[in-house]
Amino acid sequence: MNVAVVGSGLAGFTAYQTLRRGGLSPEEIEVFGTDDDPAAAWRRCAEAIHQREMRSESDGHCLATSWPGLAVRAAWRRRSAKPLIGSLFDRYHPSVEDFLAHVEELRERSGWQRSVRKARVARVRAVAGGFELDGHGVFRHVLLAPGHPGLNIPQELRDDPRVVHSYEPHAYESSVTVVGAGLAAATEWLNALDAGAEVVSVRRREPLRRPLNVPREYFSERGLAQLRRLGPEERTARLHVLLAPSYPPGPQFDEPLARATAEGRFRAEAAVNGSRQVICATGFLRGFRADPLLAALVDEHGLATAAEWIVLDPDAMVPALTDETRTLALAGVPAQWAFPAADTLVGAKYAAHAFLRKVKACRTP
Ligand SMILES: Cc1cc2nc3c(=O)[nH]c(=O)nc-3n(C[C@H](O)[C@H](O)[C@H](O)COP(=O)(O)OP(=O)(O)OC[C@H]3O[C@@H](n4cnc5c(N)ncnc54)[C@H](O)[C@@H]3O)c2cc1C
Repeated sequence: MNVAVVGSGLAGFTAYQTLRRGGLSPEEIEVFGTDDDPAAAWRRCAEAIHQREMRSESDGHCLATSWPGLAVRAAWRRRSAKPLIGSLFDRYHPSVEDFLAHVEELRERSGWQRSVRKARVARVRAVAGGFELDGHGVFRHVLLAPGHPGLNIPQELRDDPRVVHSYEPHAYESSVTVVGAGLAAATEWLNALDAGAEVVSVRRREPLRRPLNVPREYFSERGLAQLRRLGPEERTARLHVLLAPSYPPGPQFDEPLARATAEGRFRAEAAVNGSRQVICATGFLRGFRADPLLAALVDEHGLATAAEWIVLDPDAMVPALTDETRTLALAGVPAQWAFPAADTLVGAKYAAHAFLRKVKACRTP
């Protein structure tokens, strides 16, 4: 057996599309995952916060190549140049509906169902010539894309009966405190205001406004090269800054919040107060230690780590376990050491292409 992907979410799916485009057949790729719908984990979160528009732009999709992106698809379908013009100025954000339709279409035509095995992989063990995945066999090239290890609720709020996580289904009470300062928090401020609630925002610092989830320069080779020149401590500190929660600038947030503030329905406070409901828009648990698969991988193979990250080569390979005979690569959030925006669709493509290069290099006699 040759190629395995662990994790059947959007990063695993993007890797699959890239491998297929690189010439591998569905029978040459095994995908192990908890769901055969690649958008299942993502959809649960997006639906809970009523996300309607993607944060990413036209290139935020699961195809192997960036172009043609979702703007081209929308322009074609609507017979309108507007999406294309918007995308020239980084202003086109596909609707969630369009994005999900694209995933579904790709799932059907790519052979995905022939490759997916519904199984959670508990252990990855390096053996001669590859990696043993539980009892599923030995694979020469393995990409791990397990996504986030779970939802994060601050310790001091875990026993509070008013608490719900933003990524769990919920309605809105008449008074709501939203904890957090990222896009989920900002979306929840607006949702709760729309539902007629009085909203209090609790955050440790003033929200950061950024179009994408990391600064745009870190999607380019030049920005990445700068990061890679830093020593481990500086690089860790820089990653913490780059990955701080943020939400896009723009009137879609500013105008309703200004109106609600003037009406006395929105304010910031330093700590959780007596609201009827507390929504934790506090994202996910962080770091390889929170994921049993990655924690065991690190401990059993003595892998290098820095703070909460597994140290990776620039192409998102695990250096100690990758050579000319076998490949172990990470994608999605665990690959942030190599590519800070790894937890985006563009980041998933970055890891996928690097993985395909390794697979192909090993195939060449
Ligand atoms: C609400 C929300 C909105 C977002 N919007 C955007 C956006 O607009 N643009 C953008 O580019 N990015 C966006 N992202 C970021 C990113 O694209 C998503 O987080 C995406 O789902 C990441 O894909 P993933 O495959 O890494 O993780 P997931 O989609 O979570 O999938 C991981 C899968 O692996 C499975 N798994 C885990 N461990 C194992 C194991 N041991 N064995 C087998 N299977 C396992 C999980 O059960 C899950 O099915 C958004 C994220 C969220 C939460």
